[in-house]
Amino acid sequence: MWLLLLVNLASKVAAILVVGAAPGAALGLWLLGDALVAYHVFVPRAQGLARMHRRFTTARREVWLTIDDGPDPQDTPQILALLAAHGAHATFFVIGENAGRHPALIRAITAAGHEVAHHTHTHPLVWFWCATPGRVTRELDTALATLRATGVTPTRFRPPAGIKNLWLASALRARGLTGIGWSARGLERWPGDASVVATRVLRGLSPGAILLLHEGPAVPAGIRVEAIRLVLERLDEQGYHCVVPGAEQLED
Ligand SMILES: [Zn+2]
Repeated sequence: MWLLLLVNLASKVAAILVVGAAPGAALGLWLLGDALVAYHVFVPRAQGLARMHRRFTTARREVWLTIDDGPDPQDTPQILALLAAHGAHATFFVIGENAGRHPALIRAITAAGHEVAHHTHTHPLVWFWCATPGRVTRELDTALATLRATGVTPTRFRPPAGIKNLWLASALRARGLTGIGWSARGLERWPGDASVVATRVLRGLSPGAILLLHEGPAVPAGIRVEAIRLVLERLDEQGYHCVVPGAEQLED
C-alpha cells in the first residue's frame, strides 16, 4: 500500500515540476497516480491494497463454491438441501446484519459442515472504497461479534464486490482474517437467466477455481437458487467436487 501512495505522491510532485513547461503533461501526471490507486481499490483482481486469494492448489477436479450476501430465510435452506443432495461443501460469505436476524441459519450452515465467512456487517457497496479506519473497524468488528454470538469465528473475509480501501489490509491482519476473491462469478444481475449465469460462472472451469454466486432478494427471481442448482448439476456432470480448501492451499 505504501508503495502505491508513494507513486501517487511522486506523480503529484512531478506534475507540479512540469506544469510551467507542459501543462498537458502535468495534468496527465497528476491523474496517473490517482488512476493507479483507483485501479487497486475498484478492480477485484488488483492486489496492491489488500491481497485477495483467487485460486487454490489442488491436483484433483475440485472447486470452491462461495455464496455471498446471506443468510436468507427463503434461499439458505434450499441451498443447504441442494449441497447435501450433491455431497458438496461450500463457504457462505454472510452479511453481519443478516446473520443477526437469522442466527438459526448460521447454525444450520455450520451444522451441515459448511464454512461461514465474513462479508462485512452492512455490505456498504457505495462507500466502502473511502471508508475511514473507524468505519472499517465497525464493519469488521460488529459482524465478528454477531457471528461469535452464534458460535462462529470466521477466518476469511470478502469485501463487497471485491472493493478495497487503504485501511483494509491492516484491519484484516489484526483480526486474523484472510482476504478471498474469486476466479469466476455469476454476475446474476447482468442480463440472462439461470442457465446463462451458470454458463458464465463455469466458463474456463479448471481445478482450483473459486466460484462466486449470490443468495437473497437482490438476486433476480428465476435465478435465485436455480443458478446454484444448475452449477451443482453441471459440476457433477464434469466430475468436479465442491470443497472448502485449507489455508495452505490458497494461491493468488
Ligand atoms: Zn456481496
